[in-house]
Amino acid sequence: MSFDQPRAAIINGKTISNRVLEEVLVDVSRLAIDGALPGLAVVLVGHDPASHVYVRNKVKTATDLGIRSFEHKLSANASQEMLLGCIKELNENPRVNGILVQLPLPKHIDESLIINAIAPEKDVDGFHRQNVGGLVLGEQVMAPCTPKGCMRLLEETCGDIAGKHAVIIGRSNIVGKPMATLLLQAHCSVTLLHSRSVGAQEICRQADIVIAAVGRPEMINSSWIKPGAVVIDVGINRIEKDGNYRLVGDVDFESVSQVASAISPVPGGVGPMTIAYLMRNTVMAAQQQHKALKSKSVFSETLIPFK
Ligand code: NAD
Repeated sequence: MSFDQPRAAIINGKTISNRVLEEVLVDVSRLAIDGALPGLAVVLVGHDPASHVYVRNKVKTATDLGIRSFEHKLSANASQEMLLGCIKELNENPRVNGILVQLPLPKHIDESLIINAIAPEKDVDGFHRQNVGGLVLGEQVMAPCTPKGCMRLLEETCGDIAGKHAVIIGRSNIVGKPMATLLLQAHCSVTLLHSRSVGAQEICRQADIVIAAVGRPEMINSSWIKPGAVVIDVGINRIEKDGNYRLVGDVDFESVSQVASAISPVPGGVGPMTIAYLMRNTVMAAQQQHKALKSKSVFSETLIPFK
């Protein structure tokens, strides 16, 4: 994909995520042969309808790949202690390789406390402070699924992005900040814009790559985009028009597709990539834990007892 191409190609997240899932399937089969079938635990607190849909999709994808899934649904008034108890059990369960706590959590629960109670090696969301720090330092850690999915979309669309100017709109811990780190690792020049940025639109118009992660329906229109830029829309917004609901991104697709060279749609762009990379992280966790277990048992077998 060239950066100065005049009309937008659609970046098909469904097709690319299927490729990722095929790669995952190969790894799951290898682990199964080794007697180490991966397991993913999904913890859901409360009755948020969107969260229920996300959890259902994640569990279904895991099951389709042959990954064992463990669902834990707690009521909206479950205490923090109950949730911590559930995480402790999952941390200690050798059949569980990955733990995901669906966010947001009810107001009475300290989200950060819960995330950091997950064993870092089972933190398939990549939100634990140890994984966040490791990512910044360029270590081989579990990185968050959505930014990883965006990187794969860019890789398949643009090839080498070294030297490109990437602008991210949104500085959240789960999307904007890790996205900036991954783009830096790919040797981009990175600008992070946020709600207090001055002249955001002008800065964005200088970007070769735009990542929109704001949570505001169709906020980014063609006046934010340099002709030929590649645009990745992370936003998922449910809007109502004439009594009908539909999903839209943070990017005004109609207007931006007139100037960008490539654009990811909503739905069918970043969404499926996030789930695919959750599966990928789960398998990675299973591989690492299996390897650690194997080397431990080899070590104990080779120990010569003292006489
Ligand atoms: P968030 O609310 O945590 O962060 C939003 C960010 O946007 C903030 O950093 C804020 O400073 C910035 N912002 C707000 N208004 C702005 C403005 N006018 N100009 C510039 N910056 C502005 O949101 P989040 O969790 O990062 O999610 C962002 C969007 O991505 C949401 O729509 C969310 O649903 C979606 N999302 C999608 C996936 C996926 O799998 N596709 C995953 C995570 C989040």
